[in-house]
Amino acid sequence: MKFVIGNWKMNGSRALLREMIQKMRDIKSENRAVLCVPFTMLDEKNDVVALGAQDVSTHERGAYTGEISASMLAEVGAKYVIVGHSERRMYHDETNDIVRDKATRALENGITPIICVGETMDEKRAGKTFDIITAAVRESVPSDVKDTIIIAYEPRWAIGAGITPTTAEIAEAHRVIADTLAYMGLDGTPILYGASVNSGNVGEITAIEHVDGVLVGGASLKPDEFVSIIHSAK
Ligand code: PEP
Repeated sequence: MKFVIGNWKMNGSRALLREMIQKMRDIKSENRAVLCVPFTMLDEKNDVVALGAQDVSTHERGAYTGEISASMLAEVGAKYVIVGHSERRMYHDETNDIVRDKATRALENGITPIICVGETMDEKRAGKTFDIITAAVRESVPSDVKDTIIIAYEPRWAIGAGITPTTAEIAEAHRVIADTLAYMGLDGTPILYGASVNSGNVGEITAIEHVDGVLVGGASLKPDEFVSIIHSAK
């Protein structure tokens, strides 16, 4: 079983979600599909695909205008939440500490956090990829985890760029993350690859050791393409 998790970002509509659910009805695959949609679509009831959010507040409640708490996500049925996506880290200055607090709130409310880590192109050029992702995993994962968490390795320079790291680069990054998780007593934690995944490259990527699935951005907005990715993840 591989995870195939779509991240719609601030795209899509309820009509597209309904079309996607219809297309996904006939899928014959053991892979687990999830769609992380905008907050306003999380209440779309269906028996085909689990829905998740793309962010959550660090706070439980209170005077935080515009924020959404983990208990509110749970109330509308969200099963997953992406935390620490590079766009949140980049545009909202989210640090590993903030990401850890968000993941903690999710776990407290029975929601599986999908914790994103990844290096920028400057960090890659400076040879810092493994230091960055190791620190991000150590600092963004809550202590004393008892329930499932998911890590997504997303090289920031490859997101939405139509390029992916080499197979060897993905393998090395995932091995470093797997070793870090094992050191933390969290071996077996699923590790997803994300950035420019499509139906043409998903088979090769999911065949790499320690790649337990994929996080898909742009291609998850195209129903036929997303269904094809779910079928092709091996
Ligand atoms: C993402 O932003 O999580 C992502 C994987 O995007 P894309 O697939 O479009 O590169």
